Parts: sequence; C-alpha cells; structure tokens
Amino acid sequence: MKQRNEKGIILTFDDGPSKYLDRFLDVLARDEVPAVFFWQSRLLHHKRPWKRVLEDGHIIGTHSNSHPNLVKLDFSQQMKEIQTSKSIIEDITGQQVRYFRPPFGQYNKDTIAVASNLQVEMVMWEISSFDWELKHAPNQIMENVTSRVQEGSIVLLHELEQTLCALPTLIKKVKEKGFKFSTI
Ligand SMILES: [Zn+2]
Repeated sequence: MKQRNEKGIILTFDDGPSKYLDRFLDVLARDEVPAVFFWQSRLLHHKRPWKRVLEDGHIIGTHSNSHPNLVKLDFSQQMKEIQTSKSIIEDITGQQVRYFRPPFGQYNKDTIAVASNLQVEMVMWEISSFDWELKHAPNQIMENVTSRVQEGSIVLLHELEQTLCALPTLIKKVKEKGFKFSTI
C-alpha cells in the first residue's frame, strides 16, 4: 500500500484515568499504537497504572484538576486549576507535564496566558469521535473517526467503555487507509 503518512494520526483520550485504562493499554500495546492521555488529576490515584502508561510510550497531559469550564473562571482560578493538576501529575509520575487540554475544549485569553505561564502547550483536536454521546453505538464512534481521518489528525476520544469497544476496529481501519500513529 502507498505510504502517505509522514505525520501520524494522534489518538487522545480525555477524562481518565478511568477503570478501563488497563484494557485501553492492552489494545494499544497489542497494536503498537502510541497515544496521549489527558487526565483529570482528581482521578489520579497511585494505584492507577500510570507507570505502565509511560513505560508503554504514551504521554500524560493535564485536563485540569476538577474539569470546570475554564471560561467561567477568572485568571487566578484558572491558574489554580491547571497548576494544581500539573503538580499532582508531576508529583506522582516524576515527569514534567508538557501538554494541556481544556475541559469541554473551552478556553479564553486567560487560559492561553496560564498555559504559557506554566509552560504547557494547549492541544485541541481536528476530529471528534463524539464517543460520549454514543454509548450504544461503538460502530458510529469508529466511523466518525475513520471517515474523516487525514495525515496528522488529532482525534478526540475518551476513556469510556464504548470507546474501548470501538478502538480495535478503529485502529485497524486507520491502518488500512495507510496511516500510522504517533504522539505529539
Ligand atoms: Zn473532558
């Protein structure tokens, strides 16, 4: 098959670490696909398999501490949310957090200033899987991604059960289209 994939597809999983994390890691390891996990630090307990996430070559970014809509907060409240989440993740993993995704994809100029201040790069997405709305339709999650995927696309997914169901076929179809996967 013709290779037209200088830039790989980047899978991003928001709102974890969830109880399905281990099973996501199993699928990603089996198919040798790297990914980026944007975590709510309030959900990060030592017993979550964060170490395996890093050992398997994935990236952990912050998705805030408690998932507020940042545009409803002032600068100092936004700073507290993102700084707290960054510190919690860094204290547990011992690795610097370099990437940030705002909850609900909502941000304003204060968010940009906070991110710059904390030296985290804000990462949005090109393709939404709408997986949170498709609890009973994993096939549609897969279709939403594979029908629109392009070189270098950043894909929004979540650590949800239906996403886990969709993931093996999603990976297979993206590979069949001649794309590779990469991290940021
Ligand atoms: Zn979220």
